[in-house]
Amino acid sequence: MEIINSMEHYDYEQLVFCQDKASGLKAIIAIHDTTLGPALGGTRMWPYTSEEEAVIDALRLARGMTFKNAAAGLNFGGGKTVIIGDPRKDKSEALFRAFGRFVESLNGRYITAEDVGICVEDMDIVSQETKHVNGVGAIAGSSGDPSPITAFGVLKGIQACAKEVWGSEQLKGKTVALQGLGHVGYYLAKHLHQEGANLIVADINEQNVERVVKELGATAVNPDAIYGVECDIFTPTALGAIINDHTIPQFKCRIIAGAANNQLGENRHGDLLHSKGILYAPDYIINAGGVINIADELNGDYNKERALRAVEIIYRNIEEIIAISKRDNIPTYKAADILAERRIDTLGKVRSTFLSHARR
Ligand code: NAD
Repeated sequence: MEIINSMEHYDYEQLVFCQDKASGLKAIIAIHDTTLGPALGGTRMWPYTSEEEAVIDALRLARGMTFKNAAAGLNFGGGKTVIIGDPRKDKSEALFRAFGRFVESLNGRYITAEDVGICVEDMDIVSQETKHVNGVGAIAGSSGDPSPITAFGVLKGIQACAKEVWGSEQLKGKTVALQGLGHVGYYLAKHLHQEGANLIVADINEQNVERVVKELGATAVNPDAIYGVECDIFTPTALGAIINDHTIPQFKCRIIAGAANNQLGENRHGDLLHSKGILYAPDYIINAGGVINIADELNGDYNKERALRAVEIIYRNIEEIIAISKRDNIPTYKAADILAERRIDTLGKVRSTFLSHARR
């Protein structure tokens, strides 16, 4: 693999290969862009089948974080770590201590947190070696579970979409098909119920389904049937790539807006939704509540009220993305990238002014 050439393609700043034989650590830290501030992005542990696969994933995810952080109004750049290993067998105290020392060696250019395969307890160990870690359980002032704030942000995004489609953000009487009733889905179901929406729900975990049927009077359908139910809003909050050639012909909704990451199977599926007149709330914009919540820790001790206020940006971002999409007649997923790039470009220029104490 031509690594430097690959980095040049999307202008990555730095790729750090971390190896520690004693603990078995093999990790790659990718830093995409630090125009807005230190790179912030979680650590993923996954049994990659090749180093190339791990490098590609680290690069892809780091760039995604640049866009997500920029659009969320955060003063952070984009970065991500992948640890090559099986999270069920390869975790150890030594491995996370070794990883923490590599993070520390970057002196704050990169700040890490949890991602797929990593839990709060792992990050607690990392925090013994570096202060550049967020979402830690053991430290006073940390933000804890981001899911309730993510759910609140998704509600804001859904309301902004409703305003566009029906002229009012009211969800009373609207039917929402909610896929996934886990950490985020459960809180989101409660919000939607409180707003007066009718809920049709699906999850492969029966206990999760029973809970919302009992507590909120939701109607349950089989997991495969959720795509085709008659509804106003389809809310994917379980898996990625659920907007694809198989599901698009089934959708009977006006809006797709939910928390799941990487909802579009491919970009062309975003083009297809646009041509069908289904309003799609880009995933990394509407699910940014979690990262906004984590970023609040870096303002000093975590403050939930301040984090909730910051999450309101999701409503305004969705409005702005819709405006760009209409102005340029482009799908919303492309408009989201324009919004993020605009902030990086503008603030990059503002921050180029020489300050004697900053020595940039
Ligand atoms: P979770 O694992 O707690 O919940 C996912 C739920 O989806 C589970 O209840 C699971 O049983 C269900 N599910 C899995 N496969 C399914 C299928 N085929 N059909 C129906 N249901 C299925 O995860 P979460 O933290 O609630 O996150 C949900 C989504 O939101 C994920 O895509 C995640 O990446 C994304 N997200 C979460 C956060 C956060 O703060 N937790 C932030 C941003 C994005």
